[in-house]
Amino acid sequence: MYSSRLDHLPPYLFARIDAMKAEKVREGVDIIDLGVGDPDLPTPEHIVEALCDAARDPSTHHYPSYAGMPAYREAVAAWYHGRFGADLDPETEVLALIGSKEGIAHIPEAFVNPGNYVLATDPGYPVYRTATLFAEGKFHEMPLTAENRFLPDLDAVPASVASDAKLIFIGYPNNPTSATAPLEFFEEVVEFAREHGIIVVHDNAYSEITFDGYKAPSFLEADGAMEVGIEMHSLSKTYNMTGWRIGMACGNADVIAGLGRVKTNIDSGAFDAIQHAAITALSGPQDCVREACGIYQERRDVLVSGLRSIGFDLEPPAATFYVWLKVGDSMKFAATLLDEAGIVATPGTGFGRYGEGYVRFAVTRPAERIREAVERMRGLDL
Ligand SMILES: *Cc1c(COP(=O)(O)O)cnc(C)c1O
Repeated sequence: MYSSRLDHLPPYLFARIDAMKAEKVREGVDIIDLGVGDPDLPTPEHIVEALCDAARDPSTHHYPSYAGMPAYREAVAAWYHGRFGADLDPETEVLALIGSKEGIAHIPEAFVNPGNYVLATDPGYPVYRTATLFAEGKFHEMPLTAENRFLPDLDAVPASVASDAKLIFIGYPNNPTSATAPLEFFEEVVEFAREHGIIVVHDNAYSEITFDGYKAPSFLEADGAMEVGIEMHSLSKTYNMTGWRIGMACGNADVIAGLGRVKTNIDSGAFDAIQHAAITALSGPQDCVREACGIYQERRDVLVSGLRSIGFDLEPPAATFYVWLKVGDSMKFAATLLDEAGIVATPGTGFGRYGEGYVRFAVTRPAERIREAVERMRGLDL
């Protein structure tokens, strides 16, 4: 019944955990869900107000422009300039997205011919792989390991793969490993992309979720980045707006144009009222972002010190709301946590085979719940 495109998708590895969780909920177990990569904090009030005002204006009720409102693209360019010092032409170097997942899912359609390689990190955001398969590309994983500080070894990509590759997906601060990348790494990626004629897609969804004074760079800050690629960004994690579906692609004008051509044939843009609210978010006061980071940082500290107190050895991550913990068997560990302690964590194998041996905790629950989770774990033989 289904197309081979669907039949060839990798198996859904969270099915077993989902089924176990549903069973626990039925049994009335008080579940602590540290599995979801979705902020529990609400969207800041001034942004909600901006949406309400804009939604009452009938001029927002029509089809939006494909590329995004000029005022939205200008606000994105201004935010990129203020935050990263990037100079973007709002007309040709900025494109509105219906969330960055949408841009990631569509970009291979614009550049990958059947049989071309797409390079991406493993573990990684699952959409890199599925988008490649939908475009009938071949997926080449670049392993992220503790030894390489969760940065891919570009020299390890075989020459035959690099020469037939069209796209490379990377993303730092990283989901799921919570690793960060220095600007020098992005400069290496630019070199690699130039040498092999590969388009870089950097996924920067977590650039604002950082701790202890760390400031994450944009890929576009690297010398030559604008010649070889683009960055996908989003308001989802920065302003707790995952449900709103608004993001942006920024960078090389030809790459932006290719993605734009795919999108004009598939979607009709993001609701104008949401773009108005997004302008308010990007150009308004940013204290809400600092407050959210303070909350995640406190939760991170509760989880990291708690895990240390029960015998785990880990460093506090400098960014993202994830903690990537080295364990034994990923699936077995996650199943034990759920079965014996009512805690949901995501097995690393859900992000690729090199995620084996890890689980991901998301600190998207209040500190007292995280404290309670640690207490429940204390009694387990893990
Ligand atoms: C959350 C997330 C995204 C996408 O978020 P959108 O809501 O679609 O903007 C993209 N990449 C990574 C790695 C993420 O974790």
